[in-house]
Amino acid sequence: MEHILEKIKEFDTIIIHGHIRPDGDCIGSQFGLMNIIKESFPNKNVYVTGIDNSTFNFLGEVTLIDEKLFEGALSICLDCSTFDRLSDNRINKSKYTIKIDHHKDSDKYCDYEYIDFNAVSTTEIISEFYLKYKNILKINKSAAEALYTGLVTDSGNFSYKNITSNTFKIASFLATLDINISDINNKINKETIELLRFKAKILNDFKMTKNGVAYIIIYKKDLIRYNINENDASSLIYLISNIADIYALFIETDEGIRLRLRSKNIPINNIAQEYGGGGHLLASGAILKNFSEVQEVIDKLDKLLKL
Ligand code: AMP
Repeated sequence: MEHILEKIKEFDTIIIHGHIRPDGDCIGSQFGLMNIIKESFPNKNVYVTGIDNSTFNFLGEVTLIDEKLFEGALSICLDCSTFDRLSDNRINKSKYTIKIDHHKDSDKYCDYEYIDFNAVSTTEIISEFYLKYKNILKINKSAAEALYTGLVTDSGNFSYKNITSNTFKIASFLATLDINISDINNKINKETIELLRFKAKILNDFKMTKNGVAYIIIYKKDLIRYNINENDASSLIYLISNIADIYALFIETDEGIRLRLRSKNIPINNIAQEYGGGGHLLASGAILKNFSEVQEVIDKLDKLLKL
């Protein structure tokens, strides 16, 4: 971690990258780190670049920054295990690159990489980074709000198997920085009438396999009919999280059929990997080519639950 601090000190321009389809941990770690650096070194130019997710725009706006800014800059890539998942992949235009991540299946694509796959979220790592160098670094309320957002979203509201006492220690520390926890939760969980109606449809349509895998298939025509975007629709996987040990959501997109896969105990990341995807042991994903692959994945998951 010392190397990361040294590089932050060395560079005047620092660009913070995230991944495609950014979630609360991606945007939370981007703005968490940005605010820590700005608060600690006010003369540095610090930018967040990439794609936004309107659910998290209360933390700050994410856009693709001007190409000129990359010259002589330090790029820090957060929460993004592979180069092809970067939402702004112009990192080769920067002078030096660093990755900070908590995913296991990682491609080395930066000059220096710090990966802690025991961390619940990338914001947990950024919080640890601050705590380790708190004699040098400064933190503020905006950073704490962003870091807490990543922690609460990537831990499934402090409910996933990988949470530890350290998760609560970090949350407790962030809570000392005057953040409004209920307000953050309200913003993360805010929904529209369209989304509520769409939820009713999903609850009506989801399926269970013979051995108890729950799954949802979302077609493009339904997104159009209900006026729902892909991000909001894919977030609805949690609706079936309490009725099965393994559950999945498939959503038709322009790139292919996106799979979101979750398990409570049995590792499922190998199935995601078989289709060119990856992720954590119990939370992974992939992009499938067609609906016959959807059926194959469902059958493979079903076999995992066969006694
Ligand atoms: P998600 O369901 O999108 O929240 O993804 C769960 C985890 O799986 C993420 O943390 C990603 O690391 C990983 N993942 C999802 N989709 C892909 C993919 N197409 N390729 C590689 N990893 C993926």
